[in-house]
Amino acid sequence: MGDKEPRVAKRSSLADNLDEVRDRIAAACAKANRQTREVTLIAVTKNAAPEQIREILLLGVGDLGESRAQILTQRAAQINEFYHRQQAHGEGILAPRLRWHMIGHLQRNKVKPTLQVVDLIHSLDTLRLAEELDTQAAKLNRKIHVLLQVNASEETTKSGVAVGAALHLAEQLDSMPNVQIVGLMTMAAYTDNADQARRTFVRTREIFEEMRWHKIGGSHLRHLSMGMSNDFEPAILEGATMVRIGTLLFGGTTADHEDPDDTPDLEARLRKPT
Ligand SMILES: *Cc1c(COP(=O)(O)O)cnc(C)c1O
Repeated sequence: MGDKEPRVAKRSSLADNLDEVRDRIAAACAKANRQTREVTLIAVTKNAAPEQIREILLLGVGDLGESRAQILTQRAAQINEFYHRQQAHGEGILAPRLRWHMIGHLQRNKVKPTLQVVDLIHSLDTLRLAEELDTQAAKLNRKIHVLLQVNASEETTKSGVAVGAALHLAEQLDSMPNVQIVGLMTMAAYTDNADQARRTFVRTREIFEEMRWHKIGGSHLRHLSMGMSNDFEPAILEGATMVRIGTLLFGGTTADHEDPDDTPDLEARLRKPT
């Protein structure tokens, strides 16, 4: 390189955070005797600024998760446009694909706009929501991939179908023509106790194995979405194929995981021109 002054590539904190997360995922996979490529990192954007989302795409991460339907559709519109522009004219690394994951509680009246942009819904937990998804997906002539969210930590405040009802609901989903069940999602209780988190993940994997034994979902049944910033390592040890990480990448606090569907101040932030 012909630069006169030696230039040290300036690395952002997001790039450093991503390196660390990727290293820790690789180490957890090694410990579990699994291939690193078996685990997909989903960058959870709920506390990320738009420029951070663009940056992480340029760092090669193309799976993005949002927990609020309205923000998901707004962001997808902005970010998809950026992605396609980069694909056409950009240089350097760009995530090879861009996929949006709906990870939060989905209200039935938000199903229609969400379906326009989302690749996978992680948070299906009632028959009524499934029926609405089936109806709206039929109108779009598509089969929507879903994960059944299981309340495996059995906290009363958590969403998700009860452990004892999961198999039956999964069977019902499996009979819907425009819904394809591809696995399970769970959230462990917020705690520093890795054993407690691990028990939640074990229980979820057991339900998954039971579903497999009953051939629910057929060959499509292959995903366990479990593990967040503070518990993705035990989740990988128990077979997670998708980890959903926000705070470790983008900063912020991990305290509140069950969001209201729409947060006004964040929406206002998003409306600012970027
Ligand atoms: C916010 C959120 C995450 C990410 O949590 P972090 O602790 O910030 O990594 C993962 N999954 C769901 C469902 C969330 O709402």
